[in-house]
Amino acid sequence: MEKVIIIRYAEIHLKGKNRGYFEHIFAVNMEKSLKGIRHEIHRQSGRYLVEGFADENTDLIVNKIKRVFGVHSVSVAYKVPSDMNEIFNAAKLVAGESGTFKVETHRADKTFPLNSPQISAEIGGRMLESNRLLKVDVHNPDFVINIDVRENGTALVFNKFESGADGMPVGTAGKGLLLISGGIDSPVAGHMIAKRGMKIEGLHFHSYPYTNMQARQKVNDLAAVLSEYNCGFTLNVVSVKRIQEEIHKNCNGAYMVTLLRRFMMRIAEIIADKNGDQCIITGESLGQVASQTVEGMTSSNSVIKNLPVLRPLCGFDKNEIIERSRKIGTYEISIQPFEDCCTVFLPEYPIIKPKIEDVLAEEAKLDVEGLITDALSTLEITEL
Ligand code: ATP
Ligand code: MG
Repeated sequence: MEKVIIIRYAEIHLKGKNRGYFEHIFAVNMEKSLKGIRHEIHRQSGRYLVEGFADENTDLIVNKIKRVFGVHSVSVAYKVPSDMNEIFNAAKLVAGESGTFKVETHRADKTFPLNSPQISAEIGGRMLESNRLLKVDVHNPDFVINIDVRENGTALVFNKFESGADGMPVGTAGKGLLLISGGIDSPVAGHMIAKRGMKIEGLHFHSYPYTNMQARQKVNDLAAVLSEYNCGFTLNVVSVKRIQEEIHKNCNGAYMVTLLRRFMMRIAEIIADKNGDQCIITGESLGQVASQTVEGMTSSNSVIKNLPVLRPLCGFDKNEIIERSRKIGTYEISIQPFEDCCTVFLPEYPIIKPKIEDVLAEEAKLDVEGLITDALSTLEITEL
């Protein structure tokens, strides 16, 4: 009796004519996520089976596969020949030791001598005979024995469906550049966009030595989590120390964040163009903090020449974002208390609704091009 992992996929099946393309990328992404772990993935009518892995790697494989976008659900199953005795033996292994249960059967092989209700009844009856501590409850059972009789003479027997990441396979919806801070929001924004099939890479701005190395490590850790969903993650890191010093020295302090944002956007667009990224993604949410007003967004958008700026969290409350970050596994990293560059030189009263002519007047006090060139010379790239 072989242990296998059943992978069912999500929205990909909607993709009509492009189905082959989506499935190919999906299969490649699953292979990438299991790199270095012995296994084989086989396609089987509308699902995939992971086989040939070491028993002790079962949980590891399940957890990795659950993070691949496109995976709807995963089940650890026993694969047996389509024979009632074999199915019963597998059923005993997935059953609880006591309590209530029901048997659910799906029969793809219409030549199998018993139909689905008959298989369920027969296996259920044998379970009751073999263990006096079991009782049937078809409405609210403690556990379910699922039997899937496939066309190829094998049956799969399992007891649970674990939810996958859903969404579309990464790489089917272009490429984007995520502005990633060490905060709660931007990793969630990146996750949401990757979930729709976009391959993302990250750009982080630091202000070392005003910000410390732990802040930097935190962003690496966040990028490593995103990497599991995104089939790898390239993290670009740029210092904005000099930009902040120059703003601090030359401009009205109330415009620090507004001006810094415009530098970030300009640098982002240059890096995105160089890397073939088709959009910029931020974790901004309308009205969440002083700089995230529509006026603030207008001011930072206006320095972008071509690319769209996606702000998937715009309409989310903080609580909703926190809930998501917990789910995807970034929350505990994000709440580590290391300073982001945006809090360096933070003015007591930032401009909340910056007027564009005032912003331009402050910016005119700076050598914008020179500062951008200087910042780009600090670019460091890490592959996660
Ligand atoms: P986050 O939780 O993502 O840090 P936030 O609520 O703290 O968001 P801000 O600090 O105003 O909000 O940042 C808004 C957005 O600007 C972030 O979501 C991120 O996309 C981008 N951003 C902010 N700081 C940085 C940084 N140091 N490097 C890269 N991008 C940044
Ligand atoms: Mg932040």
